[in-house]
Amino acid sequence: KMNKDMGQHILINPGIVDRIIDKAALKQSDVVLEVGPGTGNLTMKILENARKVIAVEMDPRMAAELTKRVQGKPVERKLEILLGDVIKTELPYFDVCISNTPYQISSPLVFKLLALPTPPRMCVLMFQKEFADRLTAQPGDAFYSRLSANVQMWSKVTHVMKVGKGNFKPPPQVESAVVKIEPKVPRPTVSYEEWDGMLRILFIRKNKTISAVFGLSTVQTLIERNYRTWCAQNDIPLETEEGDGDVEMGGEAEEVAADNDAMEGLEGVEDDDLPRGYHEIINESRGAKKQGKRKYRGKVAELVRSKVKKVLEETDLANRRAAKCDQGDFLSLLYTFNKEGIHFN
Ligand code: SAM
Repeated sequence: KMNKDMGQHILINPGIVDRIIDKAALKQSDVVLEVGPGTGNLTMKILENARKVIAVEMDPRMAAELTKRVQGKPVERKLEILLGDVIKTELPYFDVCISNTPYQISSPLVFKLLALPTPPRMCVLMFQKEFADRLTAQPGDAFYSRLSANVQMWSKVTHVMKVGKGNFKPPPQVESAVVKIEPKVPRPTVSYEEWDGMLRILFIRKNKTISAVFGLSTVQTLIERNYRTWCAQNDIPLETEEGDGDVEMGGEAEEVAADNDAMEGLEGVEDDDLPRGYHEIINESRGAKKQGKRKYRGKVAELVRSKVKKVLEETDLANRRAAKCDQGDFLSLLYTFNKEGIHFN
């Protein structure tokens, strides 16, 4: 009996299994990680083409079925099954990752793969089509998102093929697609936490101008807090005065929301895994509580504000929108912020 919560949709079209294997360009010397082998339709083919398969499966019944399937066969000794949730499992070294992914772990799986100390040479992964579209979207495309900008920073992503519902048993509710993810070598030297921290802010409102996003008082609070931390860590004295950092509630409205297109509240916020603090930014960007507008005073707040202004002028990105920025734009923004002592981790 299938357990819907584990996304158990078995791939039953051998033609698609073959194409996935083909796209992975396996070498006989490869160690392959397979996530969610299920009954082993992909696993059996991978075993023929690789030195070793490490299969991480959460469902013990599936693991038992797979064990039985290889029992007594020559490939048996090439297969290692790790029972558990792949997201919580410490992964050993592998060269290639292949998965008909349980869709509920799509995003954490991709980030886990890219964050590995030694990322794999190649990943061939099946996802829900909408997720695959976001992975491959380019600046200006409707599905361009933090996920696109992030994954494409650390890897080359290619669409391989669409896969209809009828190729699975039981058929899923959604269409699927296979993508290839090839981590960049060498890995870009940018700090992941910084890069992602900045993107999280920018993509809270991808269609808002960058100056408007950084003008949100919640964003300024966050940046000021980070700036204070950075100064403390680097023994940089901060000029303070009494009442510094105080907020004045309900003061005169700030100009920052000036270009807040009236209809923008309709734009969905894509993020589902934001750290604390970011939800306040989302609320402000939605214009949820106008009367809660805060006006920051104090020298540090002023300093941070002027630094942000300087960065936006220097990069010429103030009037651009994240939805249309490419990697080069984001990199120059991050680099210039860092130069001013403004960090996002
Ligand atoms: N690879 C098989 C195929 O293509 O026919 C099955 C794919 S099925 C979409 C997803 C598989 O992942 C299921 O066997 C399920 O039990 C397993 N699974 C679900 N969540 C998992 C997780 N967090 N870690 C590891 N395996 C998981």
